[in-house]
Amino acid sequence: MSYIIGVDLGTTSTKSVLFDEHGAPKAYSNIPYPLYQDAPDMAEEDPEEIFTAVINGLTEVMRKGKVQPGELKGVSFSAAMHSVILMDEHNHPLTRVITWADNRAAKYAQELKASGVGAEIFKHTGVPTHPMSPLVKLIWLQNEHPDLLKQAKHIIGIKDYILYRLFGRYVQDYSLANATGLFNIFTMDWDEQALKVAGITRQQLPELVDTEYQITGLDSAYAEVTGIAIDTPFIIGASDGTLSNLGVNALDPGVLAVTIGTSGAVRTVVDKPVVDPNGRLFTYYLAKDRWVVGGPVNNGGIVFRWVRDQLFAPEKITAEQLNVDSYELLTQIAANIPAGSDGLLFHPYLGGERAPIWNANARGSFFGLTRQHTRAHMVRAALEGIVYNLYLVMLMIEGITGKPKSIQATGGFARSELWRQMLADVFEQDVNIPQSFESSALGAAVLAMHSLNMIDDLAEVQKMVGVTNTHHPHEENFMVYRELLPIWIRLSRNLQGEYDSIANFQRNHPNPNNHSANQD
Ligand code: ADP
Repeated sequence: MSYIIGVDLGTTSTKSVLFDEHGAPKAYSNIPYPLYQDAPDMAEEDPEEIFTAVINGLTEVMRKGKVQPGELKGVSFSAAMHSVILMDEHNHPLTRVITWADNRAAKYAQELKASGVGAEIFKHTGVPTHPMSPLVKLIWLQNEHPDLLKQAKHIIGIKDYILYRLFGRYVQDYSLANATGLFNIFTMDWDEQALKVAGITRQQLPELVDTEYQITGLDSAYAEVTGIAIDTPFIIGASDGTLSNLGVNALDPGVLAVTIGTSGAVRTVVDKPVVDPNGRLFTYYLAKDRWVVGGPVNNGGIVFRWVRDQLFAPEKITAEQLNVDSYELLTQIAANIPAGSDGLLFHPYLGGERAPIWNANARGSFFGLTRQHTRAHMVRAALEGIVYNLYLVMLMIEGITGKPKSIQATGGFARSELWRQMLADVFEQDVNIPQSFESSALGAAVLAMHSLNMIDDLAEVQKMVGVTNTHHPHEENFMVYRELLPIWIRLSRNLQGEYDSIANFQRNHPNPNNHSANQD
């Protein structure tokens, strides 16, 4: 038997999955670690805690899978995008891992946008101007922690740190380099203008390699602990978002990957880099001739959680007492309301928004309330609002890559039949729910299989990913959504100016019990 391990370095845990040569998961490990938020807008991780999680995860799946010498053909990585670690001349970290979720650079993102420089750089990097981007984080460091930046001999991301510890080399794949906002997607090299604006030199950055690049020569101490042979190739891998498209079999042109977990995303694969003229979609490298275009959305299932906790607290308690899923109970309540919620509209911007509107000041609203509306309408309107927002992202993607043919949908929302059908009805597309286990880890494993010539084409992932449910759009529903969507979109446009006014009010009158009210 031949095995590959896919390791996914996530924001709050590292998942390691042992896959067999057919992509079937054989052993699994999930090791959590804290996300440090001890200052406003901070979101950091400890690189050493993540390294320990990687070593323990590898050791655990090797043991659980009873892998015999020679059976492990490779190890590959997926990692969260946009992380920054500064390393000193002795290769010690000067900072923790500053993650994508860290918002302390917000002011500098705004300045970069206002000056027009952000838009200029975006045209060759494909990374929207936002505090998530390492480019913007470096400007923040330059201004607020210049001493740290001066001492930084190396500027790396979390995956580079792990590989440095395992192999003693600083290497970064094109995919995660692309997500730094410092990488020119047309020359496949660091972008001189971005480096200048960030105040750094290319000597401080890792060596750039393709996502299927192999490294060997594992540190003997870690080989011993994990049980992985020293000459086992490690395939560098790519970013979690791009690998998720691969891992859910959304690789063909026209196939859209839609995720609604805590947050959300809409992504599709194209064969060459194209940038959104309006700067609202990202363009990220996956592998040769495969680029992922899409938009990340803050307000996914977290909004449903808010509705449950704030509007349906008694039902939540009842569900707990009956030992039934509270979200399931709520979707049953919503199912009694017709499509379109009798004209009640909801904008889900409870946490500001990235795509499609990129406005940290955006706020949520119900619109169209009458005395006939009930809490049941509100929950349905909330689920619909989350989907309308993703639909807007899809329209932007459609403008660049053409009309999608079908949707591969994943995330916690897929447990609800009502919500899955809603996605098919609003998008007027067939929706498939892929049966794949840990899609980013599987994507990493498939990349490794291709690199090791175990498969001829990444498209062979199709044989590894089943389908659990398929939904076709229902005409009686999509005819209603066709009428409501233009109103919802117009409203969202008209509210843009007022979002600033209300967010400023909230900032000037902060709720002492709520530290995250103004977070994007
Ligand atoms: P994460 O993105 O953090 O990995 P998940 O993909 O599990 O998390 O998504 C969690 C979200 O999924 C919850 O906030 C909730 O909105 C939604 N969810 C969970 N269970 C259900 C359910 N039975 N029906 C509908 N939505 C659900």
